[in-house]
Amino acid sequence: MSNDTIVQERRVVTSIPGPRSQELHERRRAVVPPGVHSVLPVYIDRAHDSILVDVDGNQFIDCGGGIGVTTIGHTDDAVVAAATAALQSVTHTLFTVTPYESYVRVAEHLAKHVPGAGEKRTVLVNSGAEAVENGVKIARKFTGRPGVAVLEHAYHGRTMLTATMNHKAAPYAAGFGPRAGDVYKAPNSYPLRDGLSGAEAAARTITYLEKVAGAEDLACLVVEPIQGEGGFVVPADGYLPAIAEWCRTNGIVFIADEVQSGIARTGTVFAIEQFGVEPDLVLSAKGIAGGLPLAAVTGRAEIMDAAQPGGLGGTFGGNPVSCAAANAVFEQIESADLLAEAKRIERVLGDGLRALAAKYDVIAEVRGKGAMMAIEVVKPGTLDVDAELVSRVIARAAQAGVLLLNAGIFGNVIRFLPSLKLTDALAADVLSVLDEAFAAELA
Ligand SMILES: *Cc1c(COP(=O)(O)O)cnc(C)c1O
Repeated sequence: MSNDTIVQERRVVTSIPGPRSQELHERRRAVVPPGVHSVLPVYIDRAHDSILVDVDGNQFIDCGGGIGVTTIGHTDDAVVAAATAALQSVTHTLFTVTPYESYVRVAEHLAKHVPGAGEKRTVLVNSGAEAVENGVKIARKFTGRPGVAVLEHAYHGRTMLTATMNHKAAPYAAGFGPRAGDVYKAPNSYPLRDGLSGAEAAARTITYLEKVAGAEDLACLVVEPIQGEGGFVVPADGYLPAIAEWCRTNGIVFIADEVQSGIARTGTVFAIEQFGVEPDLVLSAKGIAGGLPLAAVTGRAEIMDAAQPGGLGGTFGGNPVSCAAANAVFEQIESADLLAEAKRIERVLGDGLRALAAKYDVIAEVRGKGAMMAIEVVKPGTLDVDAELVSRVIARAAQAGVLLLNAGIFGNVIRFLPSLKLTDALAADVLSVLDEAFAAELA
């Protein structure tokens, strides 16, 4: 594998973006609309494990992972081998026309790893948003109810239903209306900002939904166990069990949107396991197939079986090449102790970020689990957001060869979504670049 020769280190050899990237960016501007935005317009040529190599020869330590997709590392050897073999044997048949084994194997892996006893079923689709859409469809068919509850600060995708479900109108839904109906946004648990215990925050969520939506009209409550785009918000202890219990009592399908937090990212296969909740349905996507497009809705058989034959599916859903890649990811989760790698990264990044928080009073909190860590940046001595400082720090890091992403509905969170292959040495390098960026901005 030629990409194995990429040395795992950052290397900046031109201005960022370099001349060839700038040239490509001009070509792109002529044919791609500005609605498709790129965070850092360096054009990528090759990648392996934690390193992106751009067309000018610059090497970036990737702390974004294409937004949490390359959890297993870029061009992972086993994923590339499995996908290549699948590509050469059968590229497409459409599972709903003539099926194949690799789809069934992905469903078996998910049935084993999604928490909860009893039979589980899986439908495969193409994207996280499509998984959310299908989860809602299945919950509506099962309950015979229309209402969809979500939490403030949530992100669920860019289709019309999921854009309606997102907390932020701009840029996801604004101007694209009419939006979907029967979507209710309840207060979440955000310990840094609401100061509530899990029980108190759950009572607030439940009261809101009972008054505004009406429990008997709700088909489902869709929850990210750790909110992704919302800023890696980890709910207070007891919050998720309390709202899941309320759903159970009221016949509301509890859907864990694990599109960002799932598939070994947080140190367990699904983040929800760490909160002691067994969801009715679990949504997977991003990290599931090592970079290839695949998403899944997995859930209790009696709920999943409610949808009529032909009611679920889609032309590319569960593509054989993506399924082969996903099976290679699951095999490594089971054999290579990837969960321990996520915990190692939590320790190394967590310790380093806490040291930075002790040094810079603009860092209000270090939070997250596994390889899903974040810092929230504020004006010193307050909880007022400082998104501009975050933008400047991220820009400085990019100039130094570290790719970081922001998050949070105000953009004042820096999130870390490295691959589980991030070495301790690379993590230390990321932390030193971040330290220098804060020092330079706050000087
Ligand atoms: C990214 C994301 C989605 C949407 O996934 P796409 O593959 O971009 O459609 C949905 N939910 C969560 C939590 C996400 O992070």
